[in-house]
Amino acid sequence: DRALVWFRRDLRSTDNAALHRALLAAREVWCVFVFDRDILDSLPSRDRRVEFIHDSLVELDRDLADLGDDHGRAGVRLLVVHDSAIDAVPALARALDVRAVYANHDDEPASLARDAAVADALERTGIALRTSKDHVVFERSEVLTLAGKPYSVFTPYKNAWLKQLEPHVLEAYPVAPHAAALAPVPPVADLPAGVTAGPPALESLGFERTNLHELRVPTGASGAQHLLADFLDRIGDYEDTRNFPAVKGPSYLSVHLRFGTVSIRELVRVAWERTGPGPAARGAQVWLSELIWRDFYHQILHHHPRVVSRSFKPEYDGVVWETGPHADELFTAWCEGRTGYPLVDAAMAQINQTGYMHNRLRMVVASFLTKDLGLDWRRGERYFARQLIDFDLAANNGGWQWAASTGCDAQPYFRIFNPVSQSQKFDPDGTFIRRYLPQLAALPTSSIHAPWAAPPMELLAVGVELGRDYPEPVVDHAEARLRTLARYGVVKAP
Ligand code: FAD
Repeated sequence: DRALVWFRRDLRSTDNAALHRALLAAREVWCVFVFDRDILDSLPSRDRRVEFIHDSLVELDRDLADLGDDHGRAGVRLLVVHDSAIDAVPALARALDVRAVYANHDDEPASLARDAAVADALERTGIALRTSKDHVVFERSEVLTLAGKPYSVFTPYKNAWLKQLEPHVLEAYPVAPHAAALAPVPPVADLPAGVTAGPPALESLGFERTNLHELRVPTGASGAQHLLADFLDRIGDYEDTRNFPAVKGPSYLSVHLRFGTVSIRELVRVAWERTGPGPAARGAQVWLSELIWRDFYHQILHHHPRVVSRSFKPEYDGVVWETGPHADELFTAWCEGRTGYPLVDAAMAQINQTGYMHNRLRMVVASFLTKDLGLDWRRGERYFARQLIDFDLAANNGGWQWAASTGCDAQPYFRIFNPVSQSQKFDPDGTFIRRYLPQLAALPTSSIHAPWAAPPMELLAVGVELGRDYPEPVVDHAEARLRTLARYGVVKAP
């Protein structure tokens, strides 16, 4: 019996549900990753995610080959295709003459449509597509209210989620013991056209290297383990440090969760173990809560796929956002970090230069876009989707709708972050601002959060001229706040 495992957002060879099932079912197991042209063709030639995937596949290829290698023969072979997945997966499954294709659930609406098309094409030649839960702890309708309805408020969801958490839910799917029984893989010379054994060079996919390695973003399953070990040394401080962007507080594991180079079961296990009595308990509880937010937004997207383009709370679709040339200018200023609000601009510099943005700053800049600039949250959401290395539709949409107050368990619309007090509170010494806005580095801390309010002599002394070295603020926060309260007034109507 032959099986094909189709990797997508689960780029690891351990604790992988689809790989585990395939190894139980078949004696000859092939794997494939598709650089899907339906996704890739619209991307710029430098994309940190494509590079992250590519480099993680190099490691996955080695790890898979090492499986069942006791007898000096290759274990599981990773094939790589650069094509449309809808065509390539059924074609490869037929060429390899497999009985079934195994994959892990990917519940984004576009992925579900792709998988349905692949399942149809496979079925026509008698091949099954067998999919498993892998990416979250509880998926789809696994956590429901007593009335059998999906939750739309986080805290009761979290309580129900924790109540359902049992050790067996977090058990790893063993891979290596089953791989030992594999049959030798046939020579790769007979591969169909367009299929390579292992990942081809990034350049041959039409992509160039980015600054990913300069940023020291570690790729692959080993990269995730490296970050995890580092984080576990400081998980006890998570609650105290996680809101300060200048401090190494969070885990930086989001890109690994996105591409599955780490298992969510492993992360929940290590967090859960530490929630009991002990110095790390509080930090571990708060971090576990963040991982539950991730499941929460995935189930929201599953039950309410309309959130992709509309407000979770329908009455908020009545909010009228700013449009026209001035709105477009404001949007560009936001994207390019030229709003004149240092914390906002430093945060946008962070996402533009690194593809990552600290969680506190994601909230600040999203609030600024919607409530200071009066721009549609979907514009910011799309910008994040292009820039973020950890872009995840469910979490990004959830985060944006939270900040815009249109979401399920969102910030009330009349709670409007003040970008200056957020800056004073969460970057009190201006360390983060100085790192990303070197032109302001010499300003004293008393002026760095709101340079327009600084005594002119102070700016002069360090050679900073507003309008030349750094922009004047594009909006006045107090005025914008009043406009926002009026804008959201429509939702108060009975
Ligand atoms: P940690 O603090 O170490 O958290 C651990 C993990 O928990 C994260 O890796 C992530 O998987 C999960 N998590 C944490 N916070 C959230 C949250 N609020 N919602 C869902 N999951 C969470 N996260 C993404 O993974 N992808 C996105 O595209 C994304 N877009 C966002 C957009 C906005 C406007 C906001 C406010 C938040 C967004 N988040 C997104 C959530 C959060 O900002 C990131 O997960 C976090 O900053 C990643 O850094 P970390 O891995 O160091 O986080």
